[in-house]
Amino acid sequence: MPKIVLGYDIGGSKILAAVGNTDGTVFSRIEKKTAINIGRQGLLKQLFEIGEEALKTAGNLKITSIGIICAGLIDQKKGIVITSPNIPSVKGLNLVGELSTHFKVPAHIENDAAGAAIAEKQFGLAKEAENFAYIPLSTGIGAGLFVNGKIYRGSHGLAGEIGHTVILADGPLCSCGRNGCFEAIASGSAVARYAKEEYRLLKKNSRKSEFTENMDARSVLRLWENGNVEAGVIVDRIIYYIAIGIVNLACIFDPELILIGGGMSNAGEAFIDRIRETVKKEFKTLYRDVKILRATPDIAVLAPIALVKHITGQS
Ligand SMILES: [Zn+2]
Repeated sequence: MPKIVLGYDIGGSKILAAVGNTDGTVFSRIEKKTAINIGRQGLLKQLFEIGEEALKTAGNLKITSIGIICAGLIDQKKGIVITSPNIPSVKGLNLVGELSTHFKVPAHIENDAAGAAIAEKQFGLAKEAENFAYIPLSTGIGAGLFVNGKIYRGSHGLAGEIGHTVILADGPLCSCGRNGCFEAIASGSAVARYAKEEYRLLKKNSRKSEFTENMDARSVLRLWENGNVEAGVIVDRIIYYIAIGIVNLACIFDPELILIGGGMSNAGEAFIDRIRETVKKEFKTLYRDVKILRATPDIAVLAPIALVKHITGQS
C-alpha cells in the first residue's frame, strides 16, 4: 500500500506544502511566498499553517511521514539546516524536530537539488540514468548528483554545491562570502541585479525601454522570449556562465544526463536549446556526449515524497 506523505519544499522565494502518496499521486498543494524577514518563529508558524492547509485540502488524510526539501546546506542526520543564504531565518533550525513534533509523525530532510534528483530517479526523466545531475537554476544554483545509480552526498552530506564554485575569480561578492561564484553571476538573483543595472543605465541615458526598476528573472526571460535586445544581452551572459558551470561539473564527474530545473527552466525549450549549444561549444577539446534536458515540470512537488520513499524504502 502506498503511504501518505506531507511534503515541504522551502525555497528562497516560495514555500510549497503538498500531500501525496509514495506512488507519486498528489492530493493537494499549497504555495506561499517565503516569509523571509519575520524570524524563526514566524517562519515556523508559516510552515505549520501551510502544512495544515495542505492536509485540510487533501481531506485530512492520515499521514505517515513528512518529507522536507530545503534550499541550503543540510545536515540530514541531525535534521538541521546548517545554513541557507537565501532564507536567513532557517539557519541552525531543526526542521525535522519541529515539524515531526508538530504533526506527530517522523520527518526527513534533504536539500532541494538532491531531493529533486531523487525524485527524477524515482518518478521522472532519470529512471534509467546511472550518472546524472539535477541543476536547479533558481534564486540560487545547486546540483543533486547521482553516481553509479546512487545519490552522492559526499563525506559531510554537502556535495553538489556547484553554485559556490568560482567562475569569475574577481567577480561580484556571493552570499557565501566568496567572489564570482556560479550562483553570484548566473542565478535568478544575478539576473534581477543585471536587470536593475540595465534599467538605471537606460534611464540615465534617457532611453525608452520595457525594463522596470525591480524586475525578477522571470520578467527578464519573458522579455527575452519576446525579442527584447537588452534582455537578450543579459540572457547571453548568463547562458555563457551556465555553460561554463555545466562543463566544469561534467569534467569532474562525467555524467550521461544533466537535468535543468528551477524557476529559470520555465523559460522553456528555447532557453534549454541555447544552454545545450553553448555547453557543446564550451567543451572545446574535452567534448563528451552529455544529454541536457529540461527537468520534469513540477518535480519539486514530488521531491519530498520521493525522499521519504528513498529513506524508508516505503513503496
Ligand atoms: Zn558562493
